[in-house]
Amino acid sequence: QAKQQGRNNYQYYDPTINSQVNNLLKIENLLHSALKQEELLLFYQPIVNVMTGKIVKMEALLRWQNPQLGFVSPQIFIPLAEENGTIVPIGEWVLQTACAQNKLWQEMGLLAIKISVNLSVRQFQQPNLVTTIINILEQTQLSPFYLELEITESVTMRDVELAKTILTELNKIEITLSMDDFGTGYSSLGYLKQFPFHTLKIDRSFIKDLTTSSQDLAIVNAIIALGKGLNLTVVAEGVETEEIKNLLKNIGCEYIQGYLFSKPLPAAEATKLLENHHLI
Ligand code: C2E
Ligand code: MG
Ligand code: MG
Ligand code: MG
Repeated sequence: QAKQQGRNNYQYYDPTINSQVNNLLKIENLLHSALKQEELLLFYQPIVNVMTGKIVKMEALLRWQNPQLGFVSPQIFIPLAEENGTIVPIGEWVLQTACAQNKLWQEMGLLAIKISVNLSVRQFQQPNLVTTIINILEQTQLSPFYLELEITESVTMRDVELAKTILTELNKIEITLSMDDFGTGYSSLGYLKQFPFHTLKIDRSFIKDLTTSSQDLAIVNAIIALGKGLNLTVVAEGVETEEIKNLLKNIGCEYIQGYLFSKPLPAAEATKLLENHHLI
């Protein structure tokens, strides 16, 4: 119901462009107080080994539930938060909450997994990013080994030298780095070897029609080969069907994420999933 309310408010039933703009302004305004009003929460989506079905990581995905707007899609509010800069404090809250959650799971004696957190360009441009992350790890007592950061190609390509410096620093303290939405950006393959990435996540747009599109299949095969050659782990995003999963398994993709295994879940449900998983 909350979801429906959100929809009504931000686009589908607005007849004019003007009211859409007004709604965006309204959303932006409400976004400023979202953090303080405790309207933000994290959902968690597992990443699994395609051969064993074992969960190897959880990705933290930001959700915003506003009393007036209902659930607002991250595709709407994250770009706004990047524009107005609120993504910086919000991103810190995400890191803090995700690290604390993973520490809690470890204290509960659950399977030790990495928590994967998305970083935005704006956060990347903060001169104190590395210090902030180190402080959060100290405060939550999470070992850096259990934190992974997901960065898109656009983040690294904006300033290649800066990206290299920051990623190298993060890599030195044992944080794992993952390239998100791989294939949709414009990075040259030459850069890939200069950055200390550990994982490539193949964008969902190449996965969703994999069983019917020979072009997508060729691209995904090439990314898997590239990953193997560069010694990178490869994850396929957005796996929704058994057929796609089986095809990925056959062509040597080791890890999958998507609705087939699990949608992003609220913390309590993610905990239950890990608890049941532990018994397997
Ligand atoms: P992303 O990091 O590439 O995350 C994957 C998105 O695909 C998520 O959407 C997830 O819910 C969705 N997804 C996963 N499996 C499937 C599937 O099988 N089918 C379909 N159709 N979708 C699937 P979500 O949660 O709406 O997030 C969208 C984007 O917003 C993320 O893309 C990421 O770029 C950004 N985002 C989310 N949380 C954060 C955050 O904490 N910080 C920042 N900076 N960005 C975030
Ligand atoms: Mg991601
Ligand atoms: Mg992605
Ligand atoms: Mg994506």
